[in-house]
Amino acid sequence: MTGSKMMIKHDLALYMENLQYQMDQLVEQGLTIHYGKEVSPHELLGRFDVIICATGLKTTLPAIPGLDPNRAMDIRAFLYGGMVIPEHARRVTVVGGGIAGCEVACALAREKGVEVTIIERLPELMKGVVHANRSMLLWMLMGKGSPSGKAEDVLTQPVKAYTASEVFKADPQNLYIKANRKRSDPYTPWTTLIPDNIHNPFHKRLDPDDTEEIVIPTDFIVFATGGTSNNELYYQLLKEQAAPEIYCVGDANKPGRAWEAINAANEIGRFI
Ligand SMILES: Cc1cc2nc3c(=O)[nH]c(=O)nc-3n(C[C@H](O)[C@H](O)[C@H](O)COP(=O)(O)OP(=O)(O)OC[C@H]3O[C@@H](n4cnc5c(N)ncnc54)[C@H](O)[C@@H]3O)c2cc1C
Repeated sequence: MTGSKMMIKHDLALYMENLQYQMDQLVEQGLTIHYGKEVSPHELLGRFDVIICATGLKTTLPAIPGLDPNRAMDIRAFLYGGMVIPEHARRVTVVGGGIAGCEVACALAREKGVEVTIIERLPELMKGVVHANRSMLLWMLMGKGSPSGKAEDVLTQPVKAYTASEVFKADPQNLYIKANRKRSDPYTPWTTLIPDNIHNPFHKRLDPDDTEEIVIPTDFIVFATGGTSNNELYYQLLKEQAAPEIYCVGDANKPGRAWEAINAANEIGRFI
């Protein structure tokens, strides 16, 4: 699980460790697992009674003029690869200020000691995230608190953030953003976000054309801009009627959280 690669997600890492232990026990009892193997539909055709596709998300780097793919990575590949940044990189920009982007920004600042900037298109960071988690992470990004509660774990260099801002071009040293002039302070952890379906009489709509151009010096970019369900294998297997029962589960079915993926998989596992 990608999230578990960051030190701040040590609880997820523990869960994964336990899961791996259980899988290893099952292997001893006869379960076969093929690691490092990408399956294609024809390999599965007619060989199984049930196929469950848990193939996760598909991500692509956004088409930004001037972007060098050698100094940019999608967050999942970045985390799977062990958060390796180029040796010379001192300034890292995270594009996408949802929960995943903010977590990886915090992890980069803390574990790699680099200068981190978040760029988020929406007016707020981590929209839709439960208030307690959101405010805690904002507090940490501001360099005010740490996951351990210890002063020595507080970020020495707070993470910069631009909300209501969009990247429009890149060159080898910089990212260029259009930032709304009326963007609000991204760091107000004490403020609860009002859900979209509740009318807020104080809400002022931002004028999308009232922007300024800002240059963000950048050595490396991590894109945390989401992804779409990687369900091609599932549909191909259905089309070819590869097995009597075929299921699609987790992010491959609908992008979500580990909770949804684990529960849905558990449900299918018990049902079949
Ligand atoms: C940075 C980050 C932080 C997160 N933090 C949290 C969190 O705190 N809490 C939470 O609940 N959720 C979190 N999530 C979301 C959570 O990781 C996902 O919802 C969950 O991993 C989905 O599980 P999955 O099994 O559906 O897909 P994945 O975990 O993405 O697994 C899919 C697997 O399928 C493999 N695969 C794909 N195609 C093939 C093929 N053809 N052949 C063989 N293998 C294939 C992939 O290599 C991958 O290993 C986070 C996500 C990110 C990116």
